[in-house]
Amino acid sequence: MHGPEATPGDGPAPLQALNLVRTPVWVFDIDRRRVHWANDAALQVWRAESLAELCGRDMGADMSPTVATRLAQYQADFLRHDARFNEQWTLYPEGRPVSLHVHFCGYRLADGRMAMLCQGEPVGTASPESLRSVEALLHTPMMIALYAPDGRPLWRNPAARASVRDAGEQLAERFVDADAWQRLAAELASQGHVTLTMAVNTAAGQRWHEVSARRGLDAVTGEVAMLVSETDVTPLKESEARALYLSDHDVLTGLPNRSFAQQAFERLARRVLQSTAQPALQAAVVLIDLDRFKDVNDSWGHAAGDALLVQVAERLRRAVRRDDIVARFGGDEFLILLCAPDVRSEIERIHPRLRQLLAQPYLLGGSPAQLSATVGASVFPDHGQDFETLLQHADLAMYQGKAGGRDALAFYQTGLSEQLRARTQLEQELRRALAEREFVLFFQPRVGPKPGQTLGAEALVRWRHPQRGWVLPGEFIPVLEAMGQMRELGRQVFELAAQQQAAWHAAGWQLKLSVNLSPGEFADPWLLQDLQDTLARTECPPSALELEITESMLIGEDDRPLETLRALRALGLSLALDDFGTGYSNLAYLQRFPFDTLKIDRRFVQAPEHERGLTGAIVGLCRTLGLRPVAEGVETVSQQAWLMELGVREFQGYLFAPPLPAADFEARLRR
Ligand code: C2E
Ligand code: CA
Ligand code: CA
Repeated sequence: MHGPEATPGDGPAPLQALNLVRTPVWVFDIDRRRVHWANDAALQVWRAESLAELCGRDMGADMSPTVATRLAQYQADFLRHDARFNEQWTLYPEGRPVSLHVHFCGYRLADGRMAMLCQGEPVGTASPESLRSVEALLHTPMMIALYAPDGRPLWRNPAARASVRDAGEQLAERFVDADAWQRLAAELASQGHVTLTMAVNTAAGQRWHEVSARRGLDAVTGEVAMLVSETDVTPLKESEARALYLSDHDVLTGLPNRSFAQQAFERLARRVLQSTAQPALQAAVVLIDLDRFKDVNDSWGHAAGDALLVQVAERLRRAVRRDDIVARFGGDEFLILLCAPDVRSEIERIHPRLRQLLAQPYLLGGSPAQLSATVGASVFPDHGQDFETLLQHADLAMYQGKAGGRDALAFYQTGLSEQLRARTQLEQELRRALAEREFVLFFQPRVGPKPGQTLGAEALVRWRHPQRGWVLPGEFIPVLEAMGQMRELGRQVFELAAQQQAAWHAAGWQLKLSVNLSPGEFADPWLLQDLQDTLARTECPPSALELEITESMLIGEDDRPLETLRALRALGLSLALDDFGTGYSNLAYLQRFPFDTLKIDRRFVQAPEHERGLTGAIVGLCRTLGLRPVAEGVETVSQQAWLMELGVREFQGYLFAPPLPAADFEARLRR
């Protein structure tokens, strides 16, 4: 046996015989891109002087990449199955085109490598046109194939051959989706031609192809055949899919967006209406708004804010059932859509879990942050027929939840829109009232045991509303607290009280005037400074003023309340514990905090006879701790009588006088 390195001219013995054949025959070494052996007829076609000269030619020098790929593909086909091909080739010996009809198959070289054995036949009278079209077919990236009516492959161009997973593959096997293939076949049968974009199994995995099929005849056999051409449209299809995804998803969190939610709601609504279940199915639109998210953005930056939103999205997903829909509405607003027989209870069940998940600390730039959310919900079909209305109603409920102190769940109720409109109007009016100083103090006398004896007064704020007249603090103080405006009212009140007291003091009236502090004011870091400034400005003696503080302001782990109370005392102010008995009534507070006065709440003052023991105990406690008890809300002579028996010496209540305008209070003093 000769090795492949043997003089090319000799050729292996079986090949030598082919020198007798009149048609050109040659062996092509695919790996080395060289002719390995050729018979005399082939030498003539190649216009070679000798076999040695032909074998010395580097055929790879100006080989196009398409041809190179095709050759590799043939080699693989030869190796896998004993493949044979017929193709029309154009060779370019010395640059001049020669067309041959070539039959070729695999040929194993002595060293075991796979080469190809080719036999050419003259094409004869092929027209330049047909030569060009053959060239085009061989070089186009479009996959073109001919199939028998039963789907058996008859012929494929190189691109089609490179694309199939197996040369023997039937047409139907090519398509991922059986339905799509059926559609193609049906339309081909009825129309004679069809173009569809389909998912196709290829040697390179699953791809999207635009497939055109046409019924026709096989030009070689004259039999009916299908001509199928395919182009790869995967990148197009992917960008289309991405565009579709983007159109109904939020890029930051990957959650569905508003338009997706809208469509999902329509589906849920149909389900609810079609359901005959008992109890009836309901759907809910639940809006979730993060509390004070703006602070996060302001203090940590937008990147941190975004990172937090991503974590929130994840936690919301965990809080709901698998079929519930969580969407992001932009900003810090999220939405949950759910469907259940008693959807209200379902939401009430989910809410604690959601609160708990959201409350777990978040890591922002290395430091942990805390978060809460206010949730507003509306129910289909009770609170609205369409998505927009339900959203508006959920929004109103959420707004109400925020006004009520955040971190809450609120459901829409009929009439809520009215309530909220009224609330918004009240807020606007209060802003104006603060700016226009429409607040006025009334004074309720604090009296002694002797008739007509006035020891002091409690300053109680009233709003002189331009249309409504006097408005009581129960209506506006909680609203101002929620608006964060209580500090402003507190300053005005203290200013009015100090001014008034300074005037009375100058007029020679020795009175103790007490002023109420709200929780927000008490916790305000500027409180001491504000009070100090006002005292200095009004020249009011601090000892003539008393501050009323409720127990709830004293609760806490730290020493802040105690420090604040001590600082207030250091300013020279007296301190009263207000509403004693209504809250925690923690005796430790009485001992620990430096109060002068204890105001016994009217509940204990107006208590029926059999409950008066507790009131007695409170008075006894005052004696032990050196506190002056003041009975509030005294309305009857008998109430005053038994309080006197207990040893109480100071009283407030309608029995003596209601809160009075300054002029009336002064008139009373003069009497
Ligand atoms: P409070 O500090 O417990 O004030 C006593 C409330 O009881 C006053 O109501 C007063 O009008 C009412 N009252 C007085 N005598 C009687 C009585 O014999 N029977 C009954 N049933 N009630 C009586 P008002 O003025 O409506 O104030 C309500 C609350 O508003 C006050 O409760 C206080 O917590 C708050 N408040 C009032 N003015 C101010 C203020 O200037 N600043 C702050 N921070 N809070 C204030
Ligand atoms: Ca009070
Ligand atoms: Ca009180």
